[in-house]
Amino acid sequence: MNQDTLCLHAGYTPGNGEPRQIPIIQSTTFRYATSEAMGKLFDLEAEGYFYTRLQNPTNDHVAAKIAALEGGTAAMLTSSGQAASFYAIFNICSCGDHVVSSSTIYGGTYNLFAVTMKRMGIEFTFVAPDCSDEELDAAFRPNTKAVFGETIANPALTVLDIERFAKAAHAHGVPLIVDNTFATPILCRPFEWGADIVTHSTTKYMDGHAAAVGGCIVDSGKFDWNAYADKYPGLTTPDESYHGITYTERFGLAGAYITKATAQLMRDFGSIQSPQNAYLLNLGLESLHLRMRRHSENGQAVAEFLENHPKVGWVNYCGLQGNKYHALAEKYLPDGCCGVVSFGVKGGRPAAEAFMKNLKLASIATHVADAKTCVLHPASSTHRQMNDEELRAAGVPSDLVRLSVGIEDAKDILADLEQALAQI
Ligand SMILES: *Cc1c(COP(=O)(O)O)cnc(C)c1O
Repeated sequence: MNQDTLCLHAGYTPGNGEPRQIPIIQSTTFRYATSEAMGKLFDLEAEGYFYTRLQNPTNDHVAAKIAALEGGTAAMLTSSGQAASFYAIFNICSCGDHVVSSSTIYGGTYNLFAVTMKRMGIEFTFVAPDCSDEELDAAFRPNTKAVFGETIANPALTVLDIERFAKAAHAHGVPLIVDNTFATPILCRPFEWGADIVTHSTTKYMDGHAAAVGGCIVDSGKFDWNAYADKYPGLTTPDESYHGITYTERFGLAGAYITKATAQLMRDFGSIQSPQNAYLLNLGLESLHLRMRRHSENGQAVAEFLENHPKVGWVNYCGLQGNKYHALAEKYLPDGCCGVVSFGVKGGRPAAEAFMKNLKLASIATHVADAKTCVLHPASSTHRQMNDEELRAAGVPSDLVRLSVGIEDAKDILADLEQALAQI
């Protein structure tokens, strides 16, 4: 099946007389006739469900759809994108390990890595996504266990050179983990460029309707944990907390990583997505292919409009010819660059604030990447405690407006921007 068809059909095939839509299995527990039958599940000898903190059938159908869309072998839903980022790293790192990460990543992920995971003894070295090969190489240490980056970074909108980062990771015998939230597998499939693991905040375009917070981790099944067995003992030696199972032996390269994340991390941390939210996520996935094309078309139209507007100082969108990441966008994002655009209004903070007040269609929200156009002025909201100088240093100048272009009629979005700019 092609990508557009997978959005509708992957992950769930109803049998004769069964529900056409993925059913919501709203049950904490599952019944068995004998203790032996249940015992086999605990030993991971038989497949089945026993407790929704670890696994739920609704979630597994939806995760299987995302795995198919990304071209992976297995996937797991999490309660949020934050949980997905944490599990993806913690599944292969422990105290004393090190990770190389792109510096242009989501603020919440940066905090998780640089503050919270550091407290757990896992250290991160941040490199600019456009650093030289030498700088990238120099960031690795003997205890490095993974490399991390975002396809299209939130909010910097840089584009990761996935092939280059994958090559560097593999030269050092570690996997590349890519957060593919903004691109989605409709615009970019990182596994095709050498990435080994993909994460998502499904809260954004995948759900697409600002309805449900969620996350997902997908494994390509390609990284050879056995070739670097000493680095990944969690996958290649017996798990005493799980009946002495060795994940790579029992589940092969295709299943080891996600099985460990489920049997060990989900069991212990329990950040599972609720089946209700998984159901809502699936409704979003059913139109993801249509929406991503429209978001990208509208994003491109808005970026071009702003670029030519006399009251706009600068525009950051990788679909624009003059953008620093345009060449990478042409390579990795040939079908579009999503709907997130950032720009500066001439006149700085007061002009940006006036512009925001004048908007009628675009609503002010901290959210990005859903069906309705929304907009944020960080200097007067999320970053309001910072002065202009601090904002510049943080890469969020006081004139910066982040626009998440929705799937409305582009003419209406442009008219709203035009009238709001005209009044300042
Ligand atoms: C929002 C976001 C996250 C965090 O996801 P939540 O679902 O809010 O926990 C991670 N990565 C990116 C790129 C994001 O945009």
